[in-house]
Amino acid sequence: MLNMVKNASVQATDIYKDPYGYTYSEMVGVLGEVEADKFYRELYSGSQSSNKYKTITIKEIFRGPDTQKYAFELSDGYCIETVSIKRKTGTTVCVSTMIGCPVGCIFCASGENGFVRNLTPSEIVQQVILINGRVNRIVFMGMGEPLFNYDNVIKSIHILRDRKGLDFPTDGITISTTGPLPQMKKLREEHLKIQLTLSLHATNQHVRDYIMPHMKGYDINEVVQSVLSYSERHNRSVTIAYLLIPGVNDRANDVKQLGRWFRDKNVLINLLQYNETDCKAVRRPNKQELVAFRDKLNKVGLTVKIRESRGGNIKAACGQLVSRLNNRNMSAPKKKGASELDTGSSNNAGSSSRLKPSKRRYVNNKSKNGKKGSSHK
Ligand code: SF4
Repeated sequence: MLNMVKNASVQATDIYKDPYGYTYSEMVGVLGEVEADKFYRELYSGSQSSNKYKTITIKEIFRGPDTQKYAFELSDGYCIETVSIKRKTGTTVCVSTMIGCPVGCIFCASGENGFVRNLTPSEIVQQVILINGRVNRIVFMGMGEPLFNYDNVIKSIHILRDRKGLDFPTDGITISTTGPLPQMKKLREEHLKIQLTLSLHATNQHVRDYIMPHMKGYDINEVVQSVLSYSERHNRSVTIAYLLIPGVNDRANDVKQLGRWFRDKNVLINLLQYNETDCKAVRRPNKQELVAFRDKLNKVGLTVKIRESRGGNIKAACGQLVSRLNNRNMSAPKKKGASELDTGSSNNAGSSSRLKPSKRRYVNNKSKNGKKGSSHK
């Protein structure tokens, strides 16, 4: 029996205006089964006629050997970035969930730019549809903290996995998060078999607060426990992303603490290398430093992979490309004000998250010259 979702506030005109923001059953609730069936097929079959329903357009594409970076222009004139990475097994798409980001990680151009607004479910889904290639992995790892745009991200996942549409396997979807606690608790209770990556980057509160200034309100131990709790509840491995910053988070105590937290747990540590060389705030570790730290973690019983950044040659670092484009467009769109943010359950495109958006803005930021690195959530 079809699980039809009736939403009294949704009209047929809303659906025809921006149809990529609706699940099949929502469409059935408004348009009826026959029309919804026909329309969903048109939207997701790749036919030319579906182009008129797209609300985002390709502004620029930067091509590297195995990485392509797309700048998409949204209907309000802002640009976002989406990266596609070709692998032997298929294509991974790294999608954005916000314009800018309120978290303000010291190594990230998106954080440098501040927060403008959340992306809608439709804007998230269309990033996947507009990428060329056989997409078999979607990672929520581009601009923005996905869990501060909780409802829209979860809705986009429901649309992406809709059997009548893309029918994307949930197992192939990864959310990469800095770990805001209320949203981590909510995510734990979702009946979604998504992969989870926690951007940890530190082993004590002081260092994490330095690296991610706007996550200060979240106790690092509780953040770690929340990701372990997700792993246990869903009986699946989780990934800990750890951007190695020599002299900051590569000390003996860091090794010990990581061992205490993650030894004998269903956890993979991804050791990351910063993308660019000219951000003054952090120094890029060389290969030997990465290998040495990995070996120390191995010795305390942890499973570790070194992930070197890809796409640096086409400025695939998160936020760099759109910084330039959004600077160029600054006279066109109007940015949202820096309001106090709630717990990230907003279902619209406006401000969400309990954090104050960074005061740093697109104008006058360093990253327009490509000087900051990637999103490493
Ligand atoms: S790394 Fe991710 S969470 Fe941090 S500022 Fe960049 S986009 Fe935001």
